Amino acid sequence: RQAVYASLKGLPAQTKDGETLSLMLNAGLDLDLDMLDQAGADGVGLFRTEFQFLVSESLPRLEDQISLYRRVLDRAAGRPVIFRTLDLGGDKVLPILNQLREENPALGWRSIRFALDHKGLFRRQLRALVRAAGEGPLTVMFPMVTTPEEFREARALLEEEVAWTLKRTGKTPSKLEIGVMLETPALAFSLSDLAGEVDFLSVGTNDLLQFFFAADRMTPSVSDRYALISPAALRFLRMVAETCKTAGIRLSVCGEATATPLAAFCFAAFGYSSLSMSASSIGPVKQALRSIDLAGFRKGLDAALEKPNGAFRNQVLGIAIEHGA
Ligand code: PEP
Ligand code: MG
Repeated sequence: RQAVYASLKGLPAQTKDGETLSLMLNAGLDLDLDMLDQAGADGVGLFRTEFQFLVSESLPRLEDQISLYRRVLDRAAGRPVIFRTLDLGGDKVLPILNQLREENPALGWRSIRFALDHKGLFRRQLRALVRAAGEGPLTVMFPMVTTPEEFREARALLEEEVAWTLKRTGKTPSKLEIGVMLETPALAFSLSDLAGEVDFLSVGTNDLLQFFFAADRMTPSVSDRYALISPAALRFLRMVAETCKTAGIRLSVCGEATATPLAAFCFAAFGYSSLSMSASSIGPVKQALRSIDLAGFRKGLDAALEKPNGAFRNQVLGIAIEHGA
C-alpha cells in the first residue's frame, strides 16, 4: 500500500468525475513540514502555533516566533501555509501564564477568548507572523471564534500589526488572507454576517463535534457518541457549506475526522474544497478520492440524509462502494 500511496504523490486528489480537492497537512513543528513532500501534500492547512509555546520553558520571544514562522515558510517553499493563532487553554495549559483551573476547561477561558484578553501576547504573535511573511503572502486563521465581534476584534489587531510593520520595516505581505475556524456551533449561525469580512472558513471537527454532541473529545467512554458520519452532524456540515456558498466564503476542514476516506467523500460532496489532515492519512484519502464518482455519491448521500436508516454509517459506506470506493 505504501508503494501505491507513493506513486500517487505527484498526482492531484481528483475524483473520477473530475473534481479536484486540496489535501493539506496538519503540522505544529517546522520539522513536520518534511512530510509535505513525503506525503504529497498541497500545503499546510493547519499550523498549530501554540506548540512552540507548549514545548518552551519560557514564553517564546518575538524573535523566536519570527524565526519559527520563517523556517515554516521556507520549508513550504511557496506552498500555502495557514497559521492558526495561539490556541491555548482547554487541554493546552501553559503553566507560566497562570492559567486558571476551570470546572470545564473546554468551555472556558481558552483559544481566541484567552488571546483577546492577553493582548500583549497576542499582538506579539501577530507581529511575528507579519514580520515572518515579509513581502510574501500571509494566511492567518483564528481558533474557537464564537461571535462575529471576536473575529472583528482579532482581525483589527492583525491589521494594526500589518500597518505597524509597514511603518517600521517598509514591508507588507503581498497578500493577506484571514480565516476563521468553525469550532462552536453558534458561529455557524453568524457566518452570513461575516460575508465579505472572512476569506475562508476551516471547520475544526475535533472541537466542533465535541460541542455539537456535548461529548468530551478527551473521554474515551463517550467517544462513540461523537460520530461525524451521522445524520445530525452531516446535515449540520451541509448547512454550513450552503451558508458559505451564499456568503462567498471559501470552505475547508482541518480536524482529525477528515482523515478517513468516508469522511473525505462527505466533505467533498458538500463542497469543502480543501481537507487538512495528518501526513499518514493523505495517501489513503487521495487514493480513495481518485476512485469515487463524487456526483453519484453526493446524490446517494443526500437521499440517505432524507431517509437515514438505523445503521447510517453502513448506509453511507454502501453508497460509497456503489460509486467506486
Ligand atoms: C479542531 O478542534 O478540530 C482543531 C483542528 O483544533 P485542535 O485539535 O488543535 O483543537
Ligand atoms: Mg480546536
